[in-house]
Amino acid sequence: MEHYQMLINGQWREASTKETLPVINPYDKQQWGTIPQASKEDVEETIDAAQTAFHSVWKHTNGFKRANCMLKLADLIEEHAEELAIHETKDNGKVIRETKKQVPFTARALRFFAGYADKIYGETIPLDNMNLFDYTMREPVGVAVLITAWNSPMQLLMNKLAPALAAGNCVIVKPSEHASVSTLLFGKLVEQAGFPPGVINIVTGNGKVGALLTSSERVNKISFTGGTYSGRLIGKSAADHFTPLTLELGGKSPNIIFEDADLEKAIPGAMAGIFASTGQTCIAGSRLLVHESIYNEVAEKLAERVRKIKLGNPMDETTEMGPVANENQYLSISKMIEDVEAEGAKVLVGNEGDLPENGYFIRPMIVINVENSMKIAQEEVFGPVLSIISFKDEDEAVRIANDSKYGLASGIWTSDLARAHRVAKQLEAGTVWVNTYRTSAVQAPFGGVKQSGYGRERGFHSLMDYTRVKNVMIDLSNETRDPFSINV
Ligand code: NDP
Repeated sequence: MEHYQMLINGQWREASTKETLPVINPYDKQQWGTIPQASKEDVEETIDAAQTAFHSVWKHTNGFKRANCMLKLADLIEEHAEELAIHETKDNGKVIRETKKQVPFTARALRFFAGYADKIYGETIPLDNMNLFDYTMREPVGVAVLITAWNSPMQLLMNKLAPALAAGNCVIVKPSEHASVSTLLFGKLVEQAGFPPGVINIVTGNGKVGALLTSSERVNKISFTGGTYSGRLIGKSAADHFTPLTLELGGKSPNIIFEDADLEKAIPGAMAGIFASTGQTCIAGSRLLVHESIYNEVAEKLAERVRKIKLGNPMDETTEMGPVANENQYLSISKMIEDVEAEGAKVLVGNEGDLPENGYFIRPMIVINVENSMKIAQEEVFGPVLSIISFKDEDEAVRIANDSKYGLASGIWTSDLARAHRVAKQLEAGTVWVNTYRTSAVQAPFGGVKQSGYGRERGFHSLMDYTRVKNVMIDLSNETRDPFSINV
C-alpha cells in the first residue's frame, strides 16, 4: 500500500484532517494506495503559498531562469518516464503502450514552451497623436488553477502547466481523485528541477476540492479539463469573480469517410479514433459518418478488426484495450449501452465473446443503422462504442457532423484535396484532421467550440491565455491639456 502526499509550498503533506481517498487499479479492482482528501484549510493555505511565491519570487524571475527550470524538469521526466507511465497505467488502466509514449510527449511540451519563456514581450504602437508614446506589456496573470480529468493525467496537466509556467505564473494543480498518482510522482521532480517552493503546488481530493479552488477570489486563472457538466458549474462560479477560464470539455466528434477515401488508411484511422484508450478520450471519433455506397464494406471491415482487439492487462505491451478507468465510468457506459437498440439501431459487434475476469472491462462495440438524432449519436459515452451513420452526399455529411451540441474534433477521409478544404471550412469543431485522426502536436492549438468549451491549449495561442496585456501611454510633449475635453 502506497500512501501519497500533496505538495503544498514545497512540502509534502497529508490532509489537515488526515482524510484520504483510495487508489484503485481498474484491472484487478484492488486498492493499492491512498491520496489525501484536501480540506478547506489546505486549499486556503495552498492559495496563500502560490500567491506569496508569485509576488515574492516568481514574477521577479526572468524568462531565461524560468526556462532553465522547465528544461531541467523535461530532462527529469524523461529519466523517470517508465516509472510515471507504469503508475499512470496502474491508476487509470490506460494501456502501457500509450502511457509510455504520452509521458515523453509531456517533456516535449515543456521544451516547446520553455523556448517562449524569454520571448514574451509587448509592442510599441504608433498613435494618431505623435506626441504620445504607447507600448504594451504582456504580464503573467498570477495564480492559475489547473484541473485535470483522469483519462490522461500527465498529458492534460502539461497542456496547461507548460504555458502557465513559461508565462510566469504560479500554479495549483488538482488532478482527478480517480487518477492522481502520476501527477504526485511528477511533483517529486518539480523539487529537483529547482522550482522555488509555492510555484507548483499539487492538491488532491474529490470535486469539492476543485470547487473550493475555482470559487476563490484569489485565483487569477482557471484551466479545466473534464466533463461539460462540471465545466458549466465552474463557469458559473468563475463568473462570480470574473476569473478568466479555459474549458476543455466533452465531445461527440464526427469522423467522415467519403466514397473516395483510401480505406487502408481510413479503417485504422476510425479504429484509432474510438477504440484507443478504451474510447475514453475527449476527441473520440464516436460518430463514424460513412458514404452510403461504402457503408456495408466499411462496417464489415471494421467489425473484422474489432473482433480481434486484444483486451487484457494494460501493463502488457501487447494489450490493445485495457479496462475502463473506474467503477463510475464502468457503470455509466454500461447504462448507456444497455438500451442502445431501443431506438432502432443494431449492435454489429459487442455482445459476444469472453471478457478478462476481474477488471472494469467493456467489450468494444460497433452500432450500425444509427440515425444522428438517436441518443447514442448525441450523448458522449466516453467508452469504446462506435456509432456508424450513413450519408448521401457532402452537404448531408456536413449537416450531420454539425448537428451536435459538441464541437471538439472531427475527421475527414478523402483523396479529393478540394473537398478536404471545403469540408474542413464548414465543420464546427476546434480541430479537423484530414486523412489522419487522434494525431497530436505541441505546436498545434487544440480546443473546442459549442459545449466542448473555449480557449485553446498547446501552441502559441495557449501561451497568450496565461498572460494579460497592459497598455502604457506616455505624453512626451510639454503641452497642457483642456481638462473638460477628450484628449486624442
Ligand atoms: P469531471 O468533470 O467529472 O472531472 C474533471 C475534474 O474536475 C476532476 O479533477 C474532478 O475531480 C474535478 N471536478 C469535479 N467537479 C468539480 C467542480 N464542481 N468544480 C471543480 N472541479 C470539479 O470529468 P471526468 O474526470 O469524469 O472526465 C471525463 C470528461 O472529461 C469527459 O466528458 C471528457 O470528454 C472530458 N475530457 C475532455 C478533454 C479535452 O481536452 N477537451 C480531455 C479529456 C477528458 P474528481 O474527479 O476528483 O471529482
